[in-house]
Amino acid sequence: MIYFNKPHISGKELDYIQDTFQNGKLSGNGEFTQRCQRFFQEKFNFGRCFLTTSCTDALEMAALLLDIQSGDEIIMPSYTFVSTANAFALRGAKIVFADSRKDHPGIDEDKIEELITPKTKAIVPVHYAGVACDMDKIMDLSSRYGLYVVEDAAQAIDSYYTGRDGQKKALGSIGHLAVFSFHETKNIISGEGGMLVINEPEFEKRAEVLWEKGTNRSAFFKGEIDKYCWVDVGSSFLPSEIIAAFLWAQLEKLEDIQNQRKKIWNSYYKKLLEWAEKDSVQLPVIPSYATNNAHIFYLVFPNMEERIQVVKWLKTKKIHAIFHYTSLHKSLYYKDKYTGRALFQCERYERGLLRLPLYYDLNEEEISTVTRTIQNSSAS
Ligand SMILES: *Cc1c(COP(=O)(O)O)cnc(C)c1O
Repeated sequence: MIYFNKPHISGKELDYIQDTFQNGKLSGNGEFTQRCQRFFQEKFNFGRCFLTTSCTDALEMAALLLDIQSGDEIIMPSYTFVSTANAFALRGAKIVFADSRKDHPGIDEDKIEELITPKTKAIVPVHYAGVACDMDKIMDLSSRYGLYVVEDAAQAIDSYYTGRDGQKKALGSIGHLAVFSFHETKNIISGEGGMLVINEPEFEKRAEVLWEKGTNRSAFFKGEIDKYCWVDVGSSFLPSEIIAAFLWAQLEKLEDIQNQRKKIWNSYYKKLLEWAEKDSVQLPVIPSYATNNAHIFYLVFPNMEERIQVVKWLKTKKIHAIFHYTSLHKSLYYKDKYTGRALFQCERYERGLLRLPLYYDLNEEEISTVTRTIQNSSAS
């Protein structure tokens, strides 16, 4: 069986977890947590970083920090994971869904402005498959209309955007806030895990409190106050040192992991290019301002029937390929609340997109088996 995903252990994970026992510190915000946070700040030029227990938690922290109130409107793509929307829905926000691009499942940057109203509070672009949204366009809207930008960079570790000014910036360093995921299906993992990045310093102090259950415990540990107490709302957003230790082992191997994934991605692309053109199957596009972090290799079939047929065929050959999101604006939870227009591109990706197996330990022979089987499926 060739699985869709196999979590990759890079080597030192168990050693570092052992170290947390020797350090006598298992709860959060210890040495490994600090080490990981510093790494992100230094390597990617992020503002202040806070590890969280998931990207979902980081999104919920972001919604709290932006002080989202009932009736506030948040613009985001409909083609995304539930958590992107749920974090804001939890605070009573109205989610305003935008369509995807024709050449890419990411948000269509040119369709955002028409959705902005006086109630709009934030835009949440999702860097689908780790491929940058056109951030110049989004940050321009942000400054013209006074809106916050939260980058959902869950899939976008070690990926970059080059702006019109020629500056290359890491995804996650551009919006006021950004969130990442280290769920086992992402490039860099800790089982479950995530991170909030704060690029707008005004949010830092409150983030420390929200992170620590609404207490000023961080200030207490820094010696700024004599005792800590309840000062705001918050939750238990910080992960244990055991999780951070695992993550640190992965971060040490970031370059190796990324290179290996890119090799696999490029191999898929090369092997499928000719077939895809012949069969009107859309392959991933990396715009000139974006980089490829090889998070997902996907195909977009012209219709759902063809996709279903290919999935079934692959399954008979013991290959596990899976589709991705169902449009949030048509979800059971939101369809009655949705008042916007039809989102044609989003629905096209919902029907046609298929993700191929992609993980560190996938070898060249397995890649060939996958691509050969796909090519044979359309011949049948
Ligand atoms: C994976 C993912 C999330 C959620 O991440 P968790 O760490 O599982 O909470 C949110 N948004 C996007 C776009 C994702 O891909």
